[in-house]
Amino acid sequence: MPDKEETITLIGAGLNGPLLALGLVKRGFQVELYERRPDLRRVRTSAGRSINLALSTRGIHALSQAGLWNDLRRIAIPMKGRMMHSSASDLTFQPYGKDDVEVIYSISRAELNTALINAAEAHGLKIHFQQRCTGIDLKAASLTLHDERTGGEKRLDSSIVIGCDGSASAIRSEMSQMSRFNFSQQYLNYGYKELTIPATQDGKHVLEMNALHIWPRGNFMLIALPNVDGTFASILFLPFDGPDSFAQLPGPAEVRGFFQSRFPDAAALMPELADNFFKNI
Ligand SMILES: Cc1cc2nc3c(=O)[nH]c(=O)nc-3n(C[C@H](O)[C@H](O)[C@H](O)COP(=O)(O)OP(=O)(O)OC[C@H]3O[C@@H](n4cnc5c(N)ncnc54)[C@H](O)[C@@H]3O)c2cc1C
Repeated sequence: MPDKEETITLIGAGLNGPLLALGLVKRGFQVELYERRPDLRRVRTSAGRSINLALSTRGIHALSQAGLWNDLRRIAIPMKGRMMHSSASDLTFQPYGKDDVEVIYSISRAELNTALINAAEAHGLKIHFQQRCTGIDLKAASLTLHDERTGGEKRLDSSIVIGCDGSASAIRSEMSQMSRFNFSQQYLNYGYKELTIPATQDGKHVLEMNALHIWPRGNFMLIALPNVDGTFASILFLPFDGPDSFAQLPGPAEVRGFFQSRFPDAAALMPELADNFFKNI
């Protein structure tokens, strides 16, 4: 076990960083966390978008252990199964469990991330935002941090560093230079686009709210998860190139045409489709 006098350094305040920090600070460790983005509680960043996560038993277990699930379940919408939308707009419901108790939940990524950060800070975590880790000297046990506001660089000595910096981890990249370090990475030929299905004027869901909606179309698909404000957070997963791909959708007319032919019932519920498509990443 590390010495409790020694500060543990975490890199990344996404979902894992603050959760891990919370577990450590609750056990009496001193923890400091460095995050490259601004604080999502103050600045709207791509991490603070209203896209949702599907949360299942594993995530719920972690949040229960962290003492957060009872509060978070108030903003989580149970999804009892998949609602499959065919090309002819026929619906088929596929339950997730043997009864309505076996469900997964739709939860806002931004609110979940905020709750984790708040809880970890309340227990003593120190977070330094807009500090990007640009390298780690594993032999000297020192990190290089780039201040995204001033452009300055500094070194930070820390003998315990945990990389929670996501799929393009700077820490893992540095570790992969070590001898006999096994590592493999694959890139998909798919991208995604976040879209919104708005609520009715009185804030109601326009589709069944207790379901994860899926429009499966072979090598691409659209999904939609319910939000508590009556909207659905929708994501289009599509190849970058090829017949049905992002490359075929250069302008609003192509986007609307594509949705009307591939997802007609969803297209009818997305008045801001083209606008969303070109504004969102
Ligand atoms: C489109 C999409 C849909 C998904 N849907 C689901 C879902 O429904 N359910 C689910 O369970 N999972 C889902 N996932 C997966 C989920 O998002 C990841 O498993 C989760 O975010 C991983 O958490 P993390 O903390 O490891 O990384 P991240 O959440 O990516 O956080 C990494 C953090 O590190 C910071 N960072 C990165 N590099 C540096 C650096 N050099 N210095 C400092 N900070 C840095 C980033 O800014 C970020 O805040 C989805 C992923 C995608 C892309």
